[in-house]
Amino acid sequence: MTILLYQEDSYLAETDARVVDSEENYIILDKTIFYPTSGGQISDKGTINDVVVLEVKKELGQIKHFLQENHFKKRDAVHLKINWDLRYKYMRMHSAQHLISAIILDKCGAETCGNQISDETSRLDFTPFNPTEQQLKDITLEFNKLVNEKLPITVYTISRDEVLATVNPARRKLFSRLPESIKEIRVIEVQDLDKCPCGGTHVKNTEEIGHINIIKTQNKGKDVTRLIFELE
Ligand SMILES: [Zn+2]
Repeated sequence: MTILLYQEDSYLAETDARVVDSEENYIILDKTIFYPTSGGQISDKGTINDVVVLEVKKELGQIKHFLQENHFKKRDAVHLKINWDLRYKYMRMHSAQHLISAIILDKCGAETCGNQISDETSRLDFTPFNPTEQQLKDITLEFNKLVNEKLPITVYTISRDEVLATVNPARRKLFSRLPESIKEIRVIEVQDLDKCPCGGTHVKNTEEIGHINIIKTQNKGKDVTRLIFELE
């Protein structure tokens, strides 16, 4: 199993690793800082030695680094470098997504039913959600207030039983709908605001996210509204 260094420290932009398997166009490593495409977040880009990493995917529990050209052999020592500017945008966007989802859950009672995090704009789907102009303004104001308050964002792992017993009722469903087989849950907590199960990479403080601009909303069917946003 590859050690997922990005889960312990999302600010790690470089590291050494060793190749444990090498196939035609991908390699598997003993540890990695590359986040694989999952949970609405796109995979990191970067290099392994001087070879371009095209995409990183999780397939059957394995983290596969797909390369522009693969000349690596099993047991090779390699140096990994992610495109940090891009990753940092993903981190800010992903933390922004948790903030918006929390605000809309608390203020409008709507749940997040889809998301796609990208570097320039991201989108989120909510249901049941038919916001007025005023509500969108209020969401923006609340978001920017939470950014200005510089709330710490922490990451930890907790047992399923403990989190279900202690989390506030509005959030319990986020955890209870995870497969029963998951006994230990990785939680992203925004202090005094939100707890959410997530495997993604996040910033340490809401201040790093920056202010939001809701570009537009789209009707995506009965009671589903898509919200498209960017960060300043
Ligand atoms: Zn997340």
